[in-house]
Amino acid sequence: MTSTTAGPYQPKFLALKAAVHQAEELSEGGSVVRGRGGALVVVRIRGRALPHGEHVDLYADGDRWTTDPVPNAELVAEGWLVPGLVDAHTHPGAEAPGDPLDHGMLRDHLRQHVDAGVAVIRAPGLAGEPPPWFGTDPDTPRAWHAGPWLAQHGQFFDGWGRRADHAELPAIAAAQAARTGWAKVIGDWRSDGEPVPLEVLTAVVEAVHAVGGRVAVHTQQAAGGEVAVLAGADSVEHGMQLDADLLTRMAEQGTALTPTLSITDRTLPEVRRRPDSPAKRWYVRGAEAHAGLVAAAAEAGVRVLAGTDSVPHGRIIDEVRALAAAGMRPHAALAAASWDARAYLGLPGLEPGAPADAVVYAEDPRADLDQLAHPVAVILRGRPVRVRGK
Ligand SMILES: [Zn+2]
Repeated sequence: MTSTTAGPYQPKFLALKAAVHQAEELSEGGSVVRGRGGALVVVRIRGRALPHGEHVDLYADGDRWTTDPVPNAELVAEGWLVPGLVDAHTHPGAEAPGDPLDHGMLRDHLRQHVDAGVAVIRAPGLAGEPPPWFGTDPDTPRAWHAGPWLAQHGQFFDGWGRRADHAELPAIAAAQAARTGWAKVIGDWRSDGEPVPLEVLTAVVEAVHAVGGRVAVHTQQAAGGEVAVLAGADSVEHGMQLDADLLTRMAEQGTALTPTLSITDRTLPEVRRRPDSPAKRWYVRGAEAHAGLVAAAAEAGVRVLAGTDSVPHGRIIDEVRALAAAGMRPHAALAAASWDARAYLGLPGLEPGAPADAVVYAEDPRADLDQLAHPVAVILRGRPVRVRGK
């Protein structure tokens, strides 16, 4: 989590959003837009659907895609269709470490995600309890979250997260996961914070799994990464310094890696300018090796998830580019930010019955990742939240 200047919000989409809101009010929540002459119509998109590239013609029946034609549907966009994008590691609603959750900022950040084509976020740690509209309001992404970060005493950012004794950590994590599906544990901290002991993290994972939840573990040390993998964590966040010998086990047991590579790449030049110290050497060594680790993880069959971990929000394109630059095939880099991440979270792709999210691009984004900066349309819950030229 670093703090940089927030990106400008794009006001040209506000008018469309206002119109969409107006249509929602008129339609009692159906997936409609105003068609020509002011009639309310159903959203339709067509084109070639990723990951397989087959031709599809989809109609939004509320928040569900259907291939059954709907009379008077409005063809909102045509092109290359991608299931909504996913940012699997983002902390909206606060910018500086320790700040409280700001609901206005939270909504702004979420809208920045949506404008970038992100229909789903996973927040592995939030600065406070989110409001009831989080994850459900029409202009904000679907959302999974883990509540406050759970950390050992003396670790993590002051003012953020909850500290727990080892003995109480499993029960606290399980209670959180029972509420929201996820718990997030700070497995190690910076260069020299002792990792959570293996027996403790193993008990956390068992307790969370027993209530049907999943565990995300922050690690940036080799020792902490090993603990996370051996404990059976569901996802390793950052994973800097992770021993590549553990990748096969991660793939076998289904532990995902969210490398947050773009923020690591962006931070590295600044860290290089710092005076020499053990902490600097630790960070530079891990950051320089991180792209190679990502490529090796993908090669080993580890599920890689795209997560930005950063402000400005809405920069999932940076993470996809970083994953591709690390050596992942563009298809796999995009999968990490779309259909594969959605599958990991239990959401099907562009098929009948699936939640009605999509991003439409003029060209195949795998052949030109810059397409991600220029979606023709973003459909969220069956509604066009962004349409080029409208
Ligand atoms: Zn984070």
